[in-house]
Amino acid sequence: MEAKLAEFRKSHAQKQPSINWRTSVSRLTSIFSNSSKQSFETNVKKDEDESEESVSVINWQIILIKFFVWLTLFIIFIRIEFGAVYFIISLLYIIWSSLSAHRRRSNELSAYSVFNPNCEKIQGTFSAEDYDRQLRRGVKRLCNSSVIKYHWRPIVDDDYLRLPNFQSMIVAHIKDRRLTPEIISVINNIYPWTTSLKHIRRIHNSDILLYPLNFQQPLEQDLFEKYFDNETKIMNIPENPCLLKWQYDKCIKEHWSNIIFRENKIVEQSQLKKDLTENDEIILDLLKKIQDNDQDSRCAIIVDNEQQIPLVGTRDYRHEHPLQHSTMVAIDLLAANSIYSKENFLEKFLEKKEKKAYLLNGCSIYLTHEPCIMCAMALLHSRISNVYYLKENQHVGALGSKYKLHTLKKTNHRFTVYQLEQINLTDNLNTSE
Ligand SMILES: [Zn+2]
Repeated sequence: MEAKLAEFRKSHAQKQPSINWRTSVSRLTSIFSNSSKQSFETNVKKDEDESEESVSVINWQIILIKFFVWLTLFIIFIRIEFGAVYFIISLLYIIWSSLSAHRRRSNELSAYSVFNPNCEKIQGTFSAEDYDRQLRRGVKRLCNSSVIKYHWRPIVDDDYLRLPNFQSMIVAHIKDRRLTPEIISVINNIYPWTTSLKHIRRIHNSDILLYPLNFQQPLEQDLFEKYFDNETKIMNIPENPCLLKWQYDKCIKEHWSNIIFRENKIVEQSQLKKDLTENDEIILDLLKKIQDNDQDSRCAIIVDNEQQIPLVGTRDYRHEHPLQHSTMVAIDLLAANSIYSKENFLEKFLEKKEKKAYLLNGCSIYLTHEPCIMCAMALLHSRISNVYYLKENQHVGALGSKYKLHTLKKTNHRFTVYQLEQINLTDNLNTSE
């Protein structure tokens, strides 16, 4: 399979025109340099101006002809007393045409590699080289520059955030503990202990769980009087095993005390909040730079976990095309444009057999906004390892707000999700006191 892939890539490389990567890198990096940004923009503008000058003359002529045709028709309709109808229909047409999506001109670059074969830099995208420049210059750290401190809050399955469901059971007090084996045998005949409740021990000290509160065939009165004290009580038992230590502690303290629980250190660890690393802070600064002072701008940066190198970064282009969300554009850029293909990193990536050849294996993505379902599924299919996002998306957020797609039991890939959260210093002071 790999030999075939190598053969395909070889033939593909021969077909492709050679790309001057260094030249394009210098253009890519121009976004973070004002002077080079201006010169780049001027060059592009010069080309555009020449072609657009002749086009604009023709456009004006067409508009004038259209206007005179419209005016002539308007006069005719006024004559036949349908002038008002004609005018209203014309207005509706103007409103409809101005609402339709902006069409990309033939010479305009797209964020999608399909319409941008050489993956030319467009404003708002970012590469590993940009990141390298930032490191050399020394970036201003988000967290160091501010008194507000942050950490990563894990977005976990709701089952970890709440107590299990409870079932009410009737509990009796055994008169003579020497009769316990006999009692268990009798009770098991009436209400056998199901395997779904194997995390619960039926007896605790001299108390025994008999049957559910609404059980239809309770123990006969004479047998009951033989084995148990007269008074019974009602106890809640968890229907499912406790997943975390805090759930177990609460259950045994407030409900039935004899519960089987094995603490899973990895699961416990996954619930903890994480401090920001220095690398996180750099990435957050880069996100801010790509946002370019627009707080609502949605941006994404994909990072290689092993090397700790950002591979691509981009803005959101959904105003140009409804599918060009920053996550989708970032994945597309990584697949088609990035250093993976241009510096033979793809070969190296595929050679890592233990990681398999999924695009985002061993990668994390940093997002300014929680991804929608489409983007979250794209990340899942590409086998992302970690998702970090800043702002939640209450309406369509698929990794915490509206849905928790990463916690679905039937998906074939698991990844962790964290949201940036401000540390409440007063809370910390209270707990340390
Ligand atoms: Zn999306």
